Amino acid sequence: MTDLSREGATALDAADPLASLRDAFVVDDPELIYLDGNSLGRLPKASADRIAQVVRDEWGADLIRSWKHWVDLPFRAGDLMGSALLGAAAGQVVVSDSTTVNLYKLAAAALDARPDRNVIITDDDNFPTDRYVLEGLAAQRGIELRLVRTDIDEGLDPDVLRDAVDDNTALVSLSHVAYRSGALLDMAAVNEIVHGAGALVLWDLCHSAGSVPVRLDATGADLAVGCTYKYLNGGPGSPAFLYVREELQTLLRQPIWGWFGQRNQFAMGPAYDPAPEIGRFLAGTPAVLGIAAVEEGVRLLAEAGIGRLRAKGQELTGYMIELTNAWLPGLDLATPPDAARRGSHVSLRHPDAWRFTQALIEAKVIPDYRTPDRLRLGPAPINTSFTDVWDGLDRLRRIVADRTYERFSSEPSRVT
Ligand SMILES: *Cc1c(COP(=O)(O)O)cnc(C)c1O
Repeated sequence: MTDLSREGATALDAADPLASLRDAFVVDDPELIYLDGNSLGRLPKASADRIAQVVRDEWGADLIRSWKHWVDLPFRAGDLMGSALLGAAAGQVVVSDSTTVNLYKLAAAALDARPDRNVIITDDDNFPTDRYVLEGLAAQRGIELRLVRTDIDEGLDPDVLRDAVDDNTALVSLSHVAYRSGALLDMAAVNEIVHGAGALVLWDLCHSAGSVPVRLDATGADLAVGCTYKYLNGGPGSPAFLYVREELQTLLRQPIWGWFGQRNQFAMGPAYDPAPEIGRFLAGTPAVLGIAAVEEGVRLLAEAGIGRLRAKGQELTGYMIELTNAWLPGLDLATPPDAARRGSHVSLRHPDAWRFTQALIEAKVIPDYRTPDRLRLGPAPINTSFTDVWDGLDRLRRIVADRTYERFSSEPSRVT
């Protein structure tokens, strides 16, 4: 039995090998309990310094001369991320564009590589942008988007996928960790099912990069994309990443034929001739300030080590579930109870979840709300303490006991 007193939380923090990394982040208000690191990660102190340095010295003083090294940034940040977090050998990951745009680029490239097949598969609870991008591609090409049924708490059952794929399937695109419930899919098992049908697989790693070990090379994944402003702490709107397995790179062509994807770019040649490696998946000029911040964020995660981040994520979410069960019997777990089957966030179901969210924010606890009735709590392993979890849930139990939440509207706002 875990000691559920506040001293118990302090003892867990004292034994936490990652505890000192919290100091690497800006913590402006020590009273604020931040449980939304899976939506927008905290600001690393090193990133604030690096961005200031890039602005002042590299842009301000060196001006265009800085492009000599800026051109390498998308590759350098990608390789670091690949080796430290994604199980990808060098030359297969670049940082560019947004997750949405990268999804479009890689899904279109995959469909072009399977011209005789006319079905795309995803699940009916995949993240909205993933479903919309695939819906758009299917409409443009007059092919079918097949939505397989998933359980919004438990995640997709691989057997349901096995029944849905066939020799008309061109592409299967899924999220590794489900955004609402945190359910974690078995990447190796899915890759095997998809490849058994001769299709390609495209993973969305937004909620797994930096929170669970990803083994893209070892599991034979084909393609992946993901954001950098969640667990990677790259900052609001920081550029996303994409992965293309090495042997597919020269076989695939993405639909945005831009000059940054061109072989020998500054020859300014007459026609598009894509670079023979991962660079062909770039489109236009990289967002230098954003990628510099991504590199700093990833460096910190690399220092922590993905194994230790995973272990702490499982402990934090397990602890959160234990406290909820003990203190908040009216809230139901909407996340897989088995730590091996979830990422690093927990969803709790309650008809008043939106009002709890607003009352928590007033009480200086930041969670988020997800439809239809979920309170989502994301304790980022790199900078969330066990005491944060204890204090956050302690404030929630008071809000529920005092009925403070009844002062808030049940009408959701524009951003939740
Ligand atoms: C956050 C998130 C996105 C966001 O995509 P953007 O292009 O950055 O807006 C996409 N997919 C998943 C699974 C996400 O969690």
